[in-house]
Amino acid sequence: MQITCWGVRGSVPAPTPKNQRYGGNTSCVTVEADDRILIIDAGTGIRPLGHELLGTDQTIHVALTHVHSDHVEGFPFFKPLYEEERTIHLVDHNYEETQWSLLERFDGFHFPLTELEIPATIHRVQDNGVAFLNDQGFDLSRRPVNHPGGAYGYRISLNGQTVVHIPDNEIDPPGQAVAPFDDLVSFCAGADVLVHDAQYVQDDMPEKSGWGHSILQDACRLARKAQVGHLVLFHHDPDRSDEALDAMQARARERLSPHGIDCTAAYEGLTL
Ligand SMILES: [Zn+2]
Ligand SMILES: [Zn+2]
Repeated sequence: MQITCWGVRGSVPAPTPKNQRYGGNTSCVTVEADDRILIIDAGTGIRPLGHELLGTDQTIHVALTHVHSDHVEGFPFFKPLYEEERTIHLVDHNYEETQWSLLERFDGFHFPLTELEIPATIHRVQDNGVAFLNDQGFDLSRRPVNHPGGAYGYRISLNGQTVVHIPDNEIDPPGQAVAPFDDLVSFCAGADVLVHDAQYVQDDMPEKSGWGHSILQDACRLARKAQVGHLVLFHHDPDRSDEALDAMQARARERLSPHGIDCTAAYEGLTL
């Protein structure tokens, strides 16, 4: 299995000279095995990914953790949409009573084209997206996490390896948690790689309490309790410079290396 980070920034695209090493594109990762690829979230990181997929014969699947703008806004600029020979399996986002499709952006108003003008063949999966992805060979489950408006975390196993991807989650939220800490530990338990929200540091609190993102030390605590092999810090704050992220990574490594856990602050192009 191979996981690649194409966009690692949270909230809003933030390309500046001060953060070019980690990158300014928003949330998009891929999980690949053999000839199939699962794209989780369609932030602006999906645009450079699209260039890589042009002309390949990989079967493309797209699923979402939730529909905040930093997870969907790159989709219209995903080049394989404009390949006539291409089929894309698009899983709708369902959460409680709500359903939303990335195709809703193609209304001729928010974007110049309508859905009918997309050259590729879109196979829209409206119900039972998780069952569909399992049929497609991804051993996958998901659970709601702590995020305003609702979001999912994904756990995916392929060829004997497991990755858990939770880009947006407040591990210690104010009020009632949708995902209590012990449930998060169970969901992440023993994963080879945990990609987790670590947008904030203690200094950001209490101002950002309730915004739906975790502080670094909570992400480390989860990695430790769940005994994962490698923690990838994700969903970087748009105002976090490369130097600030280097420092966060160093602090996390200090906490985790005594427990035999690797740690990397996600950057565009990171492949594990
Ligand atoms: Zn986000
Ligand atoms: Zn969000």
